[in-house]
Amino acid sequence: MTDRPTETGPILDAVVVGAGFAGMYMLHRLRDLGFTAHAFEAGSGVGGTWYWNRYPGARCDVESMQYSFSFSEEMDQEWDWSEKYAPQPEILAYANHVADRFDLRRHIQFETRVTAATFDEKKRCWTVETDRGDKVSAKFCIMAVGCLSAPNRPHFDGIEDFRGPVYHTGEWPHDGVDFTGLRVGVIGTGSSAIQSIPIIAQQAADLTVFQRTATYTVPAWNEKLTPEYRQSVKASYPALRAKARARPTGFYFPFNMKSALEATPEEREKAYEEAWARGGLPFLGAFGDLLFDKAANDTIAEFARRKIREIVKDPATAKLLSPDNVFGCKRLCVDTGYFATYNLPHVKLVDVSRTPIERFTGNGIVVDGNEYPLDAVVSATGFAAMTGSFDKIRITGRNGLTLADKWRAGPRAYLGLASVGFPNLFTITGPGSPSVLASMIQAIEQHVDWIGDCMAHMRDIGAETIEPTLEAEDAWVEHVNDVSQVSLRSTCSSWYVGANIPGRPRVFMPYIGGFPVYVQKCNEVMSAGFEGFVLDAPRSASNAEPKVRLTERWRVPLDIDVISPAAVAAKRVPVV
Ligand code: FAD
Ligand code: NAP
Repeated sequence: MTDRPTETGPILDAVVVGAGFAGMYMLHRLRDLGFTAHAFEAGSGVGGTWYWNRYPGARCDVESMQYSFSFSEEMDQEWDWSEKYAPQPEILAYANHVADRFDLRRHIQFETRVTAATFDEKKRCWTVETDRGDKVSAKFCIMAVGCLSAPNRPHFDGIEDFRGPVYHTGEWPHDGVDFTGLRVGVIGTGSSAIQSIPIIAQQAADLTVFQRTATYTVPAWNEKLTPEYRQSVKASYPALRAKARARPTGFYFPFNMKSALEATPEEREKAYEEAWARGGLPFLGAFGDLLFDKAANDTIAEFARRKIREIVKDPATAKLLSPDNVFGCKRLCVDTGYFATYNLPHVKLVDVSRTPIERFTGNGIVVDGNEYPLDAVVSATGFAAMTGSFDKIRITGRNGLTLADKWRAGPRAYLGLASVGFPNLFTITGPGSPSVLASMIQAIEQHVDWIGDCMAHMRDIGAETIEPTLEAEDAWVEHVNDVSQVSLRSTCSSWYVGANIPGRPRVFMPYIGGFPVYVQKCNEVMSAGFEGFVLDAPRSASNAEPKVRLTERWRVPLDIDVISPAAVAAKRVPVV
């Protein structure tokens, strides 16, 4: 039973919005530090991404033994992952385990969407309102709303006339969907589509995939984990976690710092074959300059295209499936049998790059004047990434400024944690932080610990509010933008730059300088007494030496094999 705060109740220390991994850990940390907190979650359960994305084939693409919380060594030891890349139900079960183990549900109000958060300058607190009529006041408002949590539903003419169901991968029915014997259409070929297409093809009588941009994808080579393997990882889990934190991606995998262009064609071929055989996102670690030098990138792109030609029997389909853009520029996909699915006689690929989907009819989808008859459609069209869930909440800071207005030309935040004009509002994995370019649970833990340490410090010194300075925010936003220019990732129309949503400003939103570089910056800011922030503290208290409470595990050393200053200078900081 949730302990529900009332409008007239005492002002809470914090309201947390969202109960995915970020909201759950934030709640746990706040309570551990002795703060009062209450979380609101739109869904009926915990898990966020893994609660909503129940489409067939959904699983993580960072290895399960690293895609999990690291804050509790006991939990690391007691939880057993069954597969190299855990399927969605297992990750959701893990989220539920975390909620039970740390008794989180007591302070989470489910099926409740936060609609507004307003800062009261006199009382120095936030009033949070929900679609259920709640009105709760808290000193801090912490947004744990997720980077990939606002489904993108492009408008298609006539969609309301379609007689069959249209499912979005990010809001999949809880009872599952049986496509047996149906003619199914899938719109999109991003990670969600690539995971679901091979499974849907096993059920459907006929499958039509509508592809706008061909996608690079690397085989997962997923497998069951043996008890021996799990034990070997668990035997040195803390060391693995520490190595992962020191990596630019926040997870550990073998990485070759050498330049692809300095290798001979034979050496390159060998390295790519070996990396392909290992599979997954670490494929990008085959050489150090793949995301920084177009000529180097061309070599891996051509290798990947050759793999497609080898797998897909029909040359025209293989050609259509072969991307001609930068390898790994859009988020790299990881698949199980994706390309081979197009060898099945009942699976066809329709190119909608030059002639977009014209409209839906009652009977199906029309492209270039041809109607493709369908019984059901899967919209694997992604998300309004990074800021989509913020856009849905009316967030009002000082002087009536709304976050939507402030971020209209692109999000502006200091360290992706806080934004000028919005005191005591924290954003977990907000724009301007590594977030989606790192293994996200690590990114979440670092933000949560930083926020918890910051709030505890404020309590220590009697500070009421914290807010970045405009100079610090401007400098950070400029830095985030500058760093993005060194990477080839800034060159294509991905959701990283908001290009998947018409009308959005083109801004590279996550921080691409590498996870540990970012962590060091956060640590330095904290150690210097929250440099770049204004803490509104009583004079006597603020004169005291700030006690820094930096959570020990974030004293992350740079992994000098991968991210030495020379590597940074040579622009070889691998990102995922
Ligand atoms: P979310 O999990 O998105 O949770 C946010 C929660 O906030 C949601 O439950 C939502 O309902 C709630 N919420 C939002 N707005 C409101 C509101 N106004 N009121 C109340 N509640 C609200 N990352 C990786 O690192 N590795 C992976 O392998 C990986 N796989 C992924 C697979 C899929 C299909 C997707 C979509 C993403 C994947 N990600 C992966 C990214 C993933 O989003 C993060 O790893 C992580 O789960 C994010 O947790 P979160 O708590 O920050 O956000
Ligand atoms: P996505 O990568 O944004 O892919 C959306 C797809 O829909 C793209 O192919 C896009 O084409 C297409 N599309 C969008 N609007 C369209 C339109 N109007 N007409 C035709 N096609 C259209 O979304 P996603 O696949 O849901 O993945 C989002 C992110 O979530 C991933 O990048 C990843 O970070 C995470 N994720 C991870 C996993 C995993 O393996 N663990 C699985 C799923 C998701 P264009 O490319 O042309 O825009």
